[in-house]
Amino acid sequence: MAVSSAAPVPVSAITSGCELDGGVTRQTGAGGNTEPVSGSLDFPGPLINTFSRHYRYRYGQPVGKIPLHTGHPCPNRARGGCIFCLADSFTPNYLHAVDPIEIQIARGSRYLLRDRFRLYFGYFQQETCTALPLDRLLPMLEQVLGVEDCVGLILSTRPDAVADGLVRALADLARQSGREILVELGLQSVHERSLQLLNRNHGVECYFEAAHRIRSVGLGLGVHLIMGIPGESRADMMATVDTVCAHGLDAIKLHHLQVIRHTPLHAMHRAAPIPLFDAPAYIELLTEILPRIPPGVVIHRLWSRSHLHLLIGPRWDVPPPRLTRMLHRALAEKGVYQGSRISS
Ligand code: SF4
Repeated sequence: MAVSSAAPVPVSAITSGCELDGGVTRQTGAGGNTEPVSGSLDFPGPLINTFSRHYRYRYGQPVGKIPLHTGHPCPNRARGGCIFCLADSFTPNYLHAVDPIEIQIARGSRYLLRDRFRLYFGYFQQETCTALPLDRLLPMLEQVLGVEDCVGLILSTRPDAVADGLVRALADLARQSGREILVELGLQSVHERSLQLLNRNHGVECYFEAAHRIRSVGLGLGVHLIMGIPGESRADMMATVDTVCAHGLDAIKLHHLQVIRHTPLHAMHRAAPIPLFDAPAYIELLTEILPRIPPGVVIHRLWSRSHLHLLIGPRWDVPPPRLTRMLHRALAEKGVYQGSRISS
């Protein structure tokens, strides 16, 4: 893989964890989170089923995301945390965990939705939101869904934090509210050695079991993946994409590996430089990944950009719209699109 220098990518038509975000957020962090920006993955052609495109079609108007925080820490931090993760790198500047939910929503509306979006998803992207005890989490979720313009929830969490009781309660909440609930599981890779390297503290089987529990009660399932994990080959990355798609999912959020300051990954990078994607190489990788993803899967993000003062690399210095154009052009030149490898 090419080593980072400067130059990013694009695609079109969606959203996730950063970028292909429902047009409302741009990805910034390592943990599969995003930061509000503006429709960076909105493509002109039907090459990608982006968050933006998917929900604009469903609701007849643009739909955004408002990042929210339960205030509860991720349980994996007590075990050292994932080596790539630094909460500050993906937390929007306006978002404060100590603020009541109604204040978080008001600030998100003011800073993220502005006059571009009326409808939105409440996006619990910080930490592991389902680690909050159910008797405190449910009232918070009900409060968010009680706002008329909120069309649903996206709950970012770990595969080992979605117990039976939780998914049943979420399914009841979705039914009673008539809103959509998507549970977004951080997985990153289907290779056990990679999960160990990242200090995920869960295995691949844990993801499959959690995914089954989520889908069996009718909730939406999303997965978060990282491309470029140290030691993984291109074939390894494709195997991860193929495996999660074959297992079934509703949404996907992926991005290239970023080295964030003050993380264990940063220390590894200082000791021995880790190969990182430059923008053209990553765009080229996406032209192989996207054709493997079923066309009905909603793409929430394809790349990420953490806060620059915390980002060691890669530093592409390429505006998201240009990345999107690059991706669109690369897909067109290859004559491929999301799902084309499956349907052909
Ligand atoms: S599980 Fe998520 S929030 Fe927790 S340390 Fe890992 S990436 Fe960060």
